[in-house]
Amino acid sequence: MSALVPELLVRAHAKRLRLPVMAAQAARYAEEAASAGHGPLDFLAALLSAEVAQRDANVERTRIAAARFPEGKELSDFDFAAIPSLNAALVVELARGAYLARREVILAVGPPGTGKTHVATALGLAACRLGRRVRFVTVAGLVTELAEAQAEHRLSRLEAALDRTDLLICDELGFVRLDPDAAQLLFTLLAHRYTRGALIITSNLEFAEWTTVFGGDERLTAALLDRLTHRCHLLEFRGSSYRFRESLAAREIRPEADSASTRTRRGKESPE
Ligand code: ADP
Ligand code: MG
Repeated sequence: MSALVPELLVRAHAKRLRLPVMAAQAARYAEEAASAGHGPLDFLAALLSAEVAQRDANVERTRIAAARFPEGKELSDFDFAAIPSLNAALVVELARGAYLARREVILAVGPPGTGKTHVATALGLAACRLGRRVRFVTVAGLVTELAEAQAEHRLSRLEAALDRTDLLICDELGFVRLDPDAAQLLFTLLAHRYTRGALIITSNLEFAEWTTVFGGDERLTAALLDRLTHRCHLLEFRGSSYRFRESLAAREIRPEADSASTRTRRGKESPE
């Protein structure tokens, strides 16, 4: 039998068994094993490991896509020194994901631009990599989704879908003031959620101001806060906008390299 026949057979069988790495790489792995003097079991172990690694990577990619993060943001790109109010050790510990099984709440609170969405996303990505199902929503987007589902009589289906996630990230509580119906929908969802799975909420508001989001309903807000803060990790983002500070710092180092004017000058230049 020529070498080509088993190669073709392996490829055909591997395709049918949906083992794409084996289909594409078996011959190369076999040659490498032969030239390195490795036995058949070593060869098989290496090939199957590569197949499993690719399958894990595909599952992870699908999970991250399903979470619908606005942008990929990693903890490794986060400058903790820029925000001393934030408990860095707690963030690193949370990234390990023990809070997920305990269905705990993380409240990230602070003014705009201080890194709340960045850290929430990074924690979400970490959860995806731990094999957890995650969904990222903005509060405005979530409320719209809930209202649409209610109008179409499929609210319980949407709630069930959200229940199946291990982590729900609600970004930007406080950016929009909700009308009473929307406030009630969000309240019901969050009050239910905290019993079902982990939850991250980011907000630019102090707790005392949460009533403004919930249409001034103090009783509703107090009831919600009471539930959410029951098993909660508080991440405090105190300070000014990171990007704003970065651009100030950049200007201090190179005052002549103001990016806007540089761009305008370049824009006016004719091509050489
Ligand atoms: P917030 O959600 O609090 O309004 P973001 O997380 O959207 O703030 O941060 C605004 C931008 O600044 C993002 O691009 C984010 O990656 C970046 N950023 C904020 N804080 C930091 C930090 N400490 N280290 C690195 N990047 C940061
Ligand atoms: Mg944000």
